[in-house]
Amino acid sequence: MKTIALVAHDAKKDDLIAWAQANRAVLARHRLYATGTTGGRLIAATGLDVTPLKSGPLGGDAQIGAMIAEGRVDALVFFIDPLSALPHDVDVKSLLRLATLYNTLLAMNEATATAIFKGPLEEDDPQ
Ligand code: PGA
Repeated sequence: MKTIALVAHDAKKDDLIAWAQANRAVLARHRLYATGTTGGRLIAATGLDVTPLKSGPLGGDAQIGAMIAEGRVDALVFFIDPLSALPHDVDVKSLLRLATLYNTLLAMNEATATAIFKGPLEEDDPQ
């Protein structure tokens, strides 16, 4: 079982939900965390056991960053809105920086998330 953190900006939440529904079986094998609104949407749409953190702009991105720094996150699925300026851009940058620094599996779009889940995370045996 691995720990996976999921975050989607507002314009990308529908995409993340659709992706999570398509990959529900693999996601269900892992420990899941998400920023607040993303987590609530994921739980409502998929019934997955997701632990919601604070909303991203209120510190949720920072919470995931801290978990990464503590070695507690194996993969980050982070669907970023590439077309809007966000008030918490510094938190977004910090999270991406920490994921890069700690060599965390990082999927920033559907194609990469699907590739990760067909590789290292799908092969992980449930415990
Ligand atoms: P949210 O946070 O899931 O609470 O919307 C995501 C973000 O905007 O970073």
